[in-house]
Amino acid sequence: MKVLIVEDNPEISTAIGVTVQIRWPDVRVVTTHLGERGVEMVESEKPDLVILDLGLPDISGYEVLKRVRLFSVVPVLVLTVRSDEDDVVKALEYGADDYMIKPFRKLELLSRVQALLRRYSTFQEQGEGTLSCGLLSLDTSTGKLIYSGKEVRLTNTERRILQHLMRNCGHVVTYSSLAEAVWGNDYPDAADSLKVYVRRLREKVETDPSDPKIILTTAGIGYSLAAPEKSG
Ligand code: CA
Repeated sequence: MKVLIVEDNPEISTAIGVTVQIRWPDVRVVTTHLGERGVEMVESEKPDLVILDLGLPDISGYEVLKRVRLFSVVPVLVLTVRSDEDDVVKALEYGADDYMIKPFRKLELLSRVQALLRRYSTFQEQGEGTLSCGLLSLDTSTGKLIYSGKEVRLTNTERRILQHLMRNCGHVVTYSSLAEAVWGNDYPDAADSLKVYVRRLREKVETDPSDPKIILTTAGIGYSLAAPEKSG
């Protein structure tokens, strides 16, 4: 296991590294204070988890996320001093898997890290074969989504949401059931976060994302995938 910390404040970076290594002595921790270098290290070091600060001296954490998501689905936990909801939403839109507001408590950090690592490895092991629903087909071992014959790139979280909806093809899945499938537990703002991810998914598969025909909303309850049309 390897964790990459991209954080320009050396005290915070060291504190995170020490916290993680006390809890999991076998985990290797690699760090950088630069965003550009962080992107390179995701490629060269192949970490199992990235802990990413948003305010970096060269490029922003958002830019790091955007570049990393072009080639990697590694889980990314964003650390931010900004508690502004827009920043958090933006980070999630750019493909972050989770976020924490600084200053954070060590125990909270550890539980978030553990949840991300567990989710990721469960996902890797969990071969359900190929799921399909309507025009969507998802290879659960590689995470490759084929829509109408075209390959669509998904982030980890988008993939988990879609995988759970596909398991329940044609049936409404509640916000809390989705939250549990995606984050391992339900939490108060889950429906708002899910909205952000579903909007992104719609941009990837719907002809008109503002008039969805594939990922349907049941107001106040949850989402469903349109069932394949039956002939006759
Ligand atoms: Ca910073």
